[in-house]
Amino acid sequence: MADMNHHPDGHPASHGHGHGHEDSDEYEDGNAMAGPLSEIFAVDLTSAHGRCANCGITEPVARLRVYTRAPGLVGRCPHCAHVTLRMTRSPDNAWLDMSGTTTLRIPLTTT
Ligand SMILES: [Zn+2]
Repeated sequence: MADMNHHPDGHPASHGHGHGHEDSDEYEDGNAMAGPLSEIFAVDLTSAHGRCANCGITEPVARLRVYTRAPGLVGRCPHCAHVTLRMTRSPDNAWLDMSGTTTLRIPLTTT
């Protein structure tokens, strides 16, 4: 069950340790990815559906397992743990690696 309102400041996650491995079992849901992505895309990506290049399952972006302790944000398929989305942010640029996603279906609302 996804608690959308949990606060990440509940535990002393010390960033800047330089471990660099993204396989710890601490992860957040796709909203952690969709927030920064909304700076790039003018659509709500939490309701977008991405198809995993590894297992072929289509899931909403909001259901990705997002590892925020890796360099940048790493989104993994909730079924096979394949890396489907990767986003790295610098002050001037954002890199978006979608090589693990075959298609991204974005619902368009006319409001
Ligand atoms: Zn998968």
